[in-house]
Amino acid sequence: MKDGPVRVLVLGGSTEASELARRLAPLDSYAVTVSYAGRTRERVSTPGDVRVGGFGGAAGLAQYLRTERIDAVLDATHPFAAHMPHHAAEACRTTDVARLRVWRPPWEARDGDDWHEVTDLDAAARALEQLGARRAFLTTGRQELAPFAHLRDTWFLVRAIEAPDALPFEHAELVLARGPFDEAGELALMTDHRVDVLVTKNSGGAAAAPKLAAARTLGLPVVMVARPAQPVGPHVATVDQALAWLTASVTSDARIVQDGAAAG
Ligand code: NAP
Repeated sequence: MKDGPVRVLVLGGSTEASELARRLAPLDSYAVTVSYAGRTRERVSTPGDVRVGGFGGAAGLAQYLRTERIDAVLDATHPFAAHMPHHAAEACRTTDVARLRVWRPPWEARDGDDWHEVTDLDAAARALEQLGARRAFLTTGRQELAPFAHLRDTWFLVRAIEAPDALPFEHAELVLARGPFDEAGELALMTDHRVDVLVTKNSGGAAAAPKLAAARTLGLPVVMVARPAQPVGPHVATVDQALAWLTASVTSDARIVQDGAAAG
């Protein structure tokens, strides 16, 4: 076992990151710092050390890992974080620090679904035009509304955790809500607002999945934005698997085993 606590950096931004912080905090064998980009105005409170703000690319993160003598990085950024996972992979490679990607599985279409899968938000806007959408339920996040702003003939129901600085639509309604959601509530919301298409990122997970069930029940098309590419390397789907990896990765000679030790 390592002499002294294992120094772990959790890259945050997902529910899994918050849960990792909560589960690791009571364990004396770990000294955990959770890092956030600092995008949200009100962060979910997490126990233990927290740092906020970018590192300055892969080189900045590598410097941080050396300075803070980090033993392992749990990359629990959101599945749609396009840059940080690559920076983490590069920084861990150059500093020889163990890294695990905690990456919940994407949703998969099932019988009765009418999904229109697209690669990004611009393609999602084009799909709305092709579908002739009149009343779209937009759940892609408050910072990603601009790609839809030119769709003047579409009314938008925008759901976000925090209010956007501005709503760039002529015809729209804003709903502020944080999951988990349930199917009955999603059905009522979509029916009451006469939504005719749902737009979502393929974030995966149970908390936001009820909107997909509601769309299936209502026979509505879903414009599904695919995830950005991930770096190669070990990954797990759950917090339990990440904790098992962490335990298995601490060896008797006080070193952390690199990549091959991923559990699950
Ligand atoms: P991104 O493209 O991967 O990251 C952009 C930059 O933000 C990174 O290069 C890094 O700056 C900084 N950054 C990202 N995550 C960080 C972290 N955990 N700690 C410190 N700095 C971080 O990600 P994004 O799409 O802008 O999202 C920003 C954050 O929001 C991520 O942490 C992500 O987990 C969370 N989030 C994103 C989404 C989404 O849909 N994109 C949804 C929910 C939550 P430097 O290069 O300066 O280090």
